[in-house]
Amino acid sequence: MDGELAYSTWPALSPTPVVLVPLGSTEQHGPHLPFSTDTIIASAVAERVATDLTIRGHSVVVAPALQYGASGEHQNFPGTVSIGTEALTIVVIELVRSLSTWAGRIVLVNGHGGNLAALTASVSLLRGEGHTVAWAPCTVARGDAHAGITETSILLHLDAKLVDLASVVPGATTPMSALFGRLAVEGVRAVSPTGILGDPTGATATTGAALIAEMCDGVQRRILGESIDPRGCLRDPDRCTVPAPVATEDRA
Ligand SMILES: [Zn+2]
Repeated sequence: MDGELAYSTWPALSPTPVVLVPLGSTEQHGPHLPFSTDTIIASAVAERVATDLTIRGHSVVVAPALQYGASGEHQNFPGTVSIGTEALTIVVIELVRSLSTWAGRIVLVNGHGGNLAALTASVSLLRGEGHTVAWAPCTVARGDAHAGITETSILLHLDAKLVDLASVVPGATTPMSALFGRLAVEGVRAVSPTGILGDPTGATATTGAALIAEMCDGVQRRILGESIDPRGCLRDPDRCTVPAPVATEDRA
């Protein structure tokens, strides 16, 4: 790949590369995972996908991650920093307008489900302006929602010292579909005092390696498939085109 934009120089860039932009959040992830969990995962996925696409002959560069997202549902926990959907929408619009002056194709690699409303609004507007942009979620087929076994396992794989294993406890395991109404109105703390939606007990680095490989495969398939749904999301050619449930498709 052309590498990471942050550490490259302008003469080193290929003409009109594919640009991957990791989108994350700064929000609580229970008592055992760091605030940057979503950003760390989205960045790792983008970097691995960029490497694989480069092997296939594409010119790819990974832009610096956007560390702030729409995390209002986590605001009741100290440390959470959210810019909200309206501001995130504008940020994505201006990022893509600027990137479009030199990039070929732009893919927003999203690690946080709370960013979806902003992504849908911004990408549909941008595509209407003629920009070659879409987004892809970091998702697995049977993942849990937030700070559970999915994210905990992946962080154990990526950097085990980021996980406070002594603080791992089961969270709210009621399906997200049943929690979502109250969660949307009252926030995560009303349905999970620890901030965990899922159960991280039993998480392992080995599981995490398999999960992030699945995420990367999915994002790569979506990019190579080039089919975009009405939300501006790249479809996974290997999966149903009907949007999956929040708990699996769009992690919190
Ligand atoms: Zn997360």
